[in-house]
This record gives sequence, C-alpha cells and structure tokens, in this order.
Amino acid sequence: IWTAGVAPSPLIATLGAETNRGRLVVDPDLTVPGLDGVFALGDAAAVPDLEKGADAICPPTAQHAMRQGWAAAKNVAAALHGLPPTPYRHKDLGLVVDLGGIQAVSKPLGVQLTGLPAQFVARAYHLGALRTVTARFRTAANWGLNAVAGDDFVRTGFQSDRPATLKDFEKTDAYLTPEEVHAMVTAHVEGRSASAPTEPGSL
Ligand SMILES: Cc1cc2nc3c(=O)[nH]c(=O)nc-3n(C[C@H](O)[C@H](O)[C@H](O)COP(=O)(O)OP(=O)(O)OC[C@H]3O[C@@H](n4cnc5c(N)ncnc54)[C@H](O)[C@@H]3O)c2cc1C
Repeated sequence: IWTAGVAPSPLIATLGAETNRGRLVVDPDLTVPGLDGVFALGDAAAVPDLEKGADAICPPTAQHAMRQGWAAAKNVAAALHGLPPTPYRHKDLGLVVDLGGIQAVSKPLGVQLTGLPAQFVARAYHLGALRTVTARFRTAANWGLNAVAGDDFVRTGFQSDRPATLKDFEKTDAYLTPEEVHAMVTAHVEGRSASAPTEPGSL
C-alpha cells in the first residue's frame, strides 16, 4: 500500500526555468536549456525518456535517478574536455515489487512472477543495486531477522496536526533557501558567459 505522494521539490519552481509538472525541463543530455553549464536530473528534472518515444518523461524513480547521476557526471567530464555530450537513455528490463515476507511481484524480461520466485528476483536485484558490501550485509541481515521475527513493517510517522511540507521531512542541516540557490545559479551562469568560450576546469 503506497501512502506517500511523489512531488518535486518546491525549490524547482523558484529557479525561473521552464518546468513540466513541477520538474525542470531538460534536454536528453541532462542540461537545462537557457542555463549554460547547469545539469538537472532525478526527481527534480523532467528527463525525456528516449526509449518510450516522443513526449515521454522518465518516471521519478531511484532507478532513473542513479543512472542519470552517472550520465550527468560523464557529460560534465565531456564538457570539460570539449567532447560532445551523450543523451541519457535507459531501457527497463522489468520491475520488482517487494511486499514484505514472501509476498512480491516481479516481471523480469517480461516474465510475470508472484510469491517466492518473485521475491527471490526482487531481493537479488535490490542487493545487487546496493553500492557497498556493508549495505548488502546489513540489508540481508535485516531480511533474515524479519524472516524469523515476523513481518517487516516500517512506520515512518505522520504529521496530522498541520499540513506538512517537503522540507519538514528532509534530513539535512544545509538546506538552501530558494534565494540562495537562485543566487548560486545566477552567479554561475553570469560567470560562464563572462568567460566564454568554456575552458577546461571552469565549470
Ligand atoms: C515512499 C517512497 C518509496 C519509493 N520507492 C521507490 C522504489 O521502490 N523504487 C524506486 O526506484 N524509487 C522509489 N522511490 C522514488 C525514489 O526515492 C526517488 O525517485 C529518488 O530518491 C530520487 O532521487 P533524487 O536524488 O533525484 O532526489 P532525492 O533522493 O529526493 O534527493 C534530493 C536531496 O536534495 C536535498 N535537498 C532538497 N532541497 C534542498 C535544499 N533547498 N537545500 C539543500 N538540499 C536540498 C534533499 O534533502 C535530498 O537529500 C520512492 C519514493 C518514496 C517517497
């Protein structure tokens, strides 16, 4: 049961750039049109989904956000070396949904699975997606404990006394105000247009 909505950060709307349902409009190479040298990705960006055709936008998922992170990093490096950028493109190999315990559904390479086989695929995928051995061990240990101790429910809490904003749920001690972000982007863009053409290391 999904009890959370998905919304882009309200910060995006304050940047003065074109948005699509609250997400920054970007070119397929993850650059923001009109903001030279600025890249956007993940939930914050409406990245064209080249695999799904015209007007399709990548959904706001971690699968895309992580891959777009690599793609953006490569395009930043390419820009620094005067090389052409590569458009972001990712073809899904299926989906996995871990519903807890032995309940799951998955569809690897178009094959529909439910129950234990689906859970095996889902958890193998998620373990593989984790970046460190420690994270894999902790996650696998947690699944092991839950298998012995019972269902794995997680309650993240509610704020029913007042309307909650995204910021209420963010865990950061360095939350930039829209004004600070706007000043950084403006200074960056003005700095680039003053020093054009781009030299390596100026980004
Ligand atoms: C309940 C839930 C379940 C989900 N389950 C799945 C799933 O099963 N599979 C899947 O693929 N995706 C899932 N998603 C979606 C996935 O979490 C997001 O798509 C992904 O985290 C997006 O990554 P991101 O880096 O773009 O943004 P985020 O992970 O949101 O990172 C943005 C960061 O920017 C910081 N930030 C924001 N504003 C400011 C500011 N003003 N100053 C400084 N820092 C700021 C935030 O604190 C945050 O750390 C789920 C999302 C939710 C809410």
